[in-house]
Amino acid sequence: MSHDSHCAFCKIVAAQIPASVVFENQTSLAFLDIGPLADGHLLLIPRDHYPALVDMPREESTRLLSVIPVLGRALLEVTGAEGFNVLINNGTAAGQVVPHAHIHLIPRQSGDKLGYRWHVSSYENDRPAELALAYQEALRKHID
Ligand code: 5GP
Ligand code: ZN
Repeated sequence: MSHDSHCAFCKIVAAQIPASVVFENQTSLAFLDIGPLADGHLLLIPRDHYPALVDMPREESTRLLSVIPVLGRALLEVTGAEGFNVLINNGTAAGQVVPHAHIHLIPRQSGDKLGYRWHVSSYENDRPAELALAYQEALRKHID
């Protein structure tokens, strides 16, 4: 099992620092975010240390993601939220602060003013076809 002694989430896994744990199984752990965006905001993490989701082997990421629906149902029941966002910040540019892969589950109510403002753009000319081809080529390399 990989562990980084400097990592806050590894310390939670090892019970070296406290956390309000709501769920655990052999490979993952869910606990309350210490700085919640909404009451009941959860973090779901793998027990093993991976810097980000893209660093996880496919089976392990699949196992982690499979916990989301059950955790989401409990979140809706406990918080009385009308919905929730699943957010994964990948890399510092995307807002990732803790370099241990994690998934945010953020309770939402209509009109709660949380959330992104989407500055929608559009594609020109051949860009969609060019991108689709580049993605298909890259995926042939990355898929296992
Ligand atoms: P990120 O921006 O990396 O996606 O989010 C990291 C989240 O982890 C933040 O929302 C932050 O409040 C939470 N967090 C950071 N350190 C701790 C900690 O020691 N305990 C808990 N429970 N949450 C933490
Ligand atoms: Zn870690």
